[in-house]
Amino acid sequence: MRQVSSWGRLDAPAHRVIRLTDPERLPEQLRSGPFPGLAYGMGRSYGDVCLNPDNTLWETTGLDHFVAFDDHSGLLVCEAGVLLRDIQRLTLPRGWMLPVTPGTQLVTVGGAIANDVHGKNHHLHGTFGEHVRRLTLVRTDGTTLECGPDQQADWFAATVGGLGLTGVIVRAELQLRRVAGPWLETEALPFESLEAFFSLADHSVADWEHTVSWIDCMASGHTRGVFMRGRPSAAEGRRRPRTRMLRMPFVPPVSLVNALSLRPFNQFYYLLNTRRRGRTLTHYEPFFYPLDNLLDWNRMYGPRGFYQYQSVVPQDAGLEATKALLAEIARAGEGSFLAVLKTFGEREPPGMLSFPQAGVTLALDFPNRGERTRSLLARLDAIVLEARGRLYPAKDARMPRTLFEAGYPRLPEFLHYRDPGISSGLSRRLLGH
Ligand SMILES: Cc1cc2nc3c(=O)[nH]c(=O)nc-3n(C[C@H](O)[C@H](O)[C@H](O)COP(=O)(O)OP(=O)(O)OC[C@H]3O[C@@H](n4cnc5c(N)ncnc54)[C@H](O)[C@@H]3O)c2cc1C
Repeated sequence: MRQVSSWGRLDAPAHRVIRLTDPERLPEQLRSGPFPGLAYGMGRSYGDVCLNPDNTLWETTGLDHFVAFDDHSGLLVCEAGVLLRDIQRLTLPRGWMLPVTPGTQLVTVGGAIANDVHGKNHHLHGTFGEHVRRLTLVRTDGTTLECGPDQQADWFAATVGGLGLTGVIVRAELQLRRVAGPWLETEALPFESLEAFFSLADHSVADWEHTVSWIDCMASGHTRGVFMRGRPSAAEGRRRPRTRMLRMPFVPPVSLVNALSLRPFNQFYYLLNTRRRGRTLTHYEPFFYPLDNLLDWNRMYGPRGFYQYQSVVPQDAGLEATKALLAEIARAGEGSFLAVLKTFGEREPPGMLSFPQAGVTLALDFPNRGERTRSLLARLDAIVLEARGRLYPAKDARMPRTLFEAGYPRLPEFLHYRDPGISSGLSRRLLGH
């Protein structure tokens, strides 16, 4: 047994960890248990969707082979433990890139499918699952199933965004998109109200592929932030910036993120971006994955870890609900280094439990201060529920069952596809087993 935690480091329960390396042996290996098991990629989910306390984890990063790549069509076949970073670095020099990636590229293909992750370009390219052409799923009864949007489409819709509960994804075929190179034309625009944020978002969707905003939730009395947008550039002849990897070397005895540190940090970050305003060329890695060079940054929150809270509410309720969420957070005197606000486009999600829906999404980190934090999050839940929104299971460690059921109306349909040999902390909490 080994202690394993997820990115939020709220706890580190014991698991029986079995490393998967050979796709040929997988059906036999899964069939022999011990049950219940759960696939575990890079553990970049924040809560308990990737944990299976006191039970088995099937570690997938050993399934790391590239199988085929056609540089005329951009079709890539790889095993499910391959990292998105390694795909980008292999295919970019050949003129292809993943159409959708999350805010870190240190995640596996299997994890990206199981949470149907989104990036900064949802309004244009939707979620990761929209670019999966086929996947191979092994069930714990030893059967293997091939599915895709046009083949056993119901299994595909259950597995994309299926939180690892339908089987273990072994291999996937991904459609990449052509790009001129690694550069983006980017722009940072400070804003001073939520209305200004929504106006910038509306005016940017037509011409800017990537949009995301950082907001200062410690600014008393009003909302301010920095709207960042980017689009592919054909710039050539520039050198990739040298990146220095840093590491948070230890877990401090208390969280370094608190009201004392947040206020000056947010002030500094806002002023820095106010000075930097204007267009510039940026390499895709610092723009898409700003935290990937600070290894183990999650240790900053100290031994009790932190909660991430990501909601989405429909467009018509977006302004009022976001105001209410920020007001509640300010009232509680809590804040977040990484408060991210962004709009999602009108797209039919590929998975029964895919998180994105048209509207506005807000993501925040809160140091774990026990009951005080949980009661704030419960008050935020009430606002999200009232606005007919939902929370992102990939980030969740505590949402109540009622909120999950209200936010995911296709849940009863999804349950038919669950693998009885698979369970997770999240599934036991929200589905009863
Ligand atoms: C800094 C940071 C930024 C992030 N930004 C974003 C963002 O912008 N957008 C976004 O959507 N997410 C974001 N995330 C969340 C992250 O992208 C997802 O949690 C992702 O799914 C993690 O992948 P993983 O390989 O670490 O999987 P894990 O966290 O290990 O597992 C996630 C889920 O996938 C399942 N799973 C893993 N592998 C397989 C497999 N082979 N077969 C079946 N199921 C499998 C697991 O059982 C679990 O349910 C961010 C996370 C971090 C730390």
